[in-house]
Amino acid sequence: VWFIEQLKPLLLPRTLNSAPEILPQDSHLIAVMFIDLDRFKVINDSLGHIVGDHLLASVGERLGQNIRTQDGLARFGGDEFAVLLRRLPNREDAFLVASRLVQSFQKPFEVQGHTFSLGISIGIVFGHKDYQVPEDILRDADLAMYQAKYRGGNCYTVFEEVMRPQAMQRLQLEQDLRQAITAEQLCLYYQPIWSLTDHTITGFESLLRWHHPDRGWISPAQFIVIAEETGFIHQLGWWAIEQAVTQFYRWQKTYPAASSLSLNINISAHQIKDRQFPQRFAKLITELDLDGRCLNLEITETSFLETAQYYPENFAFLRKLGVEICIDDFGVGYSSLSRLHRLQVDTIKIDRSFVMDIDVDPQKKAITGTIITLAHQLGAQIIAEGIESEAQQTHLINLKCPFGQGFYLAKPLPVDAASNLIATL
Ligand code: C2E
Ligand code: CA
Ligand code: CA
Repeated sequence: VWFIEQLKPLLLPRTLNSAPEILPQDSHLIAVMFIDLDRFKVINDSLGHIVGDHLLASVGERLGQNIRTQDGLARFGGDEFAVLLRRLPNREDAFLVASRLVQSFQKPFEVQGHTFSLGISIGIVFGHKDYQVPEDILRDADLAMYQAKYRGGNCYTVFEEVMRPQAMQRLQLEQDLRQAITAEQLCLYYQPIWSLTDHTITGFESLLRWHHPDRGWISPAQFIVIAEETGFIHQLGWWAIEQAVTQFYRWQKTYPAASSLSLNINISAHQIKDRQFPQRFAKLITELDLDGRCLNLEITETSFLETAQYYPENFAFLRKLGVEICIDDFGVGYSSLSRLHRLQVDTIKIDRSFVMDIDVDPQKKAITGTIITLAHQLGAQIIAEGIESEAQQTHLINLKCPFGQGFYLAKPLPVDAASNLIATL
């Protein structure tokens, strides 16, 4: 409320008869920054609200130290803050303040004996004659902040007009996704995983597909993030898991060869954070009488590091079922293999970006070779993803990569095609 009251006199009032000579009290350039903390929820959920509250107080203090005395700072509930920059000489000054704020979070926070690293995402909007009420300017700052988050956080983004239609589209997609399950627009495809040593299929990875009634096929790369932001990922994730394991069960019942196959299922960090997840997973596979040892859960490197530290018991429970943990997109995050190993990782999937250039970029080839050697030494399995040519496959075989996946070997297949393939094994 205080923030909005501060902002009001700086904008043109929305009244029909407001005379043009009535200018806002302060006609200099103003900017509003909407700030959201990255990763705060994980800390709050795992260490409790008391630590969370102290941390928020320290965050407020640090933000305050990095703005000028004439600026305003307010907390907007949760882990959201807003800054009002008054009397800016030019736009660049706002960028300077934003960079300083992002920089200031490089230093970790010490709260009640814990050390936390936090990032911030900032959306910036400049005052404009079209902004007549504070709510409009805040809405746009919020949209810009979302873009900053979308870019990976720990940065700032300036609002642009195109963000509004984009946000509308996202909102529409969000609503459409919510009924995609009941409207039966979702299905799973299965991509074979191959042994590169004897060129046999060792398992499948399930991949979500959404057929939108107007827009056609929409990539999971697009809709998973939306599902994660809206919390719909829990429903969607369980739908995908149930479909996948049920299908796998059918294959095992129908085809003798399926008994030696494994199934890889992708899961998001949000699913692992759910305390009920391991038990529900256990119940599901027990009911189907499936052996946990043929199931692998794939989680991206960054999501794994984020969850392994705070939810170790969830991983331990899954591992007791025999379920293996597979690190997806390895190489794009910043973890070291030995750290992953300490956190008990069974399989590592080398990201497509390495495999893509393996035959043209000696550096990528060298890194891939190092990852494979180290993984062997640590006793972890290795799968190279995104193999698109024979040349890439040959390089991987030479580097002693045991498993591979990619369009060159087989594309993700609809259920019927995957079944036909299993029947030939
Ligand atoms: P991912 O887990 O890294 O899956 C591999 C992606 O690469 C898939 O894209 C696959 O179709 C594609 N791909 C496989 N081989 C090749 C190749 O040789 N070349 C190229 N260019 N691409 C290849 P897709 O199916 O669009 O999935 C995108 C991402 O969405 C997945 O990346 C995964 O992170 C996520 N995802 C898919 N299904 C699920 C799910 O059921 N749950 C969750 N949480 N995430 C899912
Ligand atoms: Ca995957
Ligand atoms: Ca991957």
